[in-house]
Amino acid sequence: MAEGRIMKALSGFYYVQSGEELYACKGRGLFRKQKITPLVGDFVVFDKSADSEGYIQEIKPRKTELSRPPIANVDQAMIVSSVNMPPFSSLLLDRFLVFIESKQIQPIIVINKVDLADEEELEMIKEYKTIYEKVGYRVLLFSAKQRDDMMDIKTLFQEKITVFAGQSGVGKSSILNAIKPSLTLETAHISKSLGRGRHTTRHVELLNINGGLVADTPGFSVVDFSHISKEELGLCFPEIKTLQPYCKFRGCLHDKEPGCAVKNAVNSKEIATYRYNHYLQFLEEIQLRKPRY
Ligand code: GDP
Ligand code: ZN
Repeated sequence: MAEGRIMKALSGFYYVQSGEELYACKGRGLFRKQKITPLVGDFVVFDKSADSEGYIQEIKPRKTELSRPPIANVDQAMIVSSVNMPPFSSLLLDRFLVFIESKQIQPIIVINKVDLADEEELEMIKEYKTIYEKVGYRVLLFSAKQRDDMMDIKTLFQEKITVFAGQSGVGKSSILNAIKPSLTLETAHISKSLGRGRHTTRHVELLNINGGLVADTPGFSVVDFSHISKEELGLCFPEIKTLQPYCKFRGCLHDKEPGCAVKNAVNSKEIATYRYNHYLQFLEEIQLRKPRY
């Protein structure tokens, strides 16, 4: 018996890294009864059956789980947006933030293409940066075209599993490609031991970068709130989550209720009005949703 982490899944094999070795494993046994299938990112217990091969026997409990891309135990998501082309949208950013928060994953905000920004746009982006930092998020102003920025982002990967997310066209693939060349050495032994040639089908793979694991996929570009209840929504806004214990009514949705600490904070400008308006918009979306049976 050995333990390891699934680094990629391809053609019915799970490639489990254990120490420096990679084992091509088949899944069988216990976890079928558990009714879960192994995911990239899972910690597993496996039987070594032959040289570099094995059978997965057990899947360790997951901290987090995403379905698109299908990865377990993701620690953080780099939510990429751009200053320009496409234009920055705080509404879209907040949608991604809420989605990631609802999955118990730590968001990091990356605002890309700062090289395209004029002075006015740079001012605007800096104001947003201040607001999101006050909420508690880490914000990176970034340019995938300026390679010296890469180290800033790489230091954040250490000891974490990271995914990229964000609207199409903001530069996720560019960032991934820019951080990749430096890791060909680190992952060389993996490709060699697989010996199956380059993959052609789309799949998810975890790459070793700067002491962490990064999902080799631009992740998801659309999000839906179908799994979020109206009571949970406030928990996905850190500044609302902090204040809602002080609302007069338990279960306050911070909409029309009297004695609402959140609305008071909006009035006193402690909470950004646009963030609160996005909250109300998402709340309406959730409340209008057709119940699923
Ligand atoms: P994705 O859809 O999020 O993966 O976005 P891509 O990585 O495909 O990038 C979309 C376009 O934006 C491409 O033409 C990139 O060359 C360009 N791009 C990406 N990052 C930057 C950047 O930092 N600055 C500039 N000027 N262009 C960028
Ligand atoms: Zn309230």
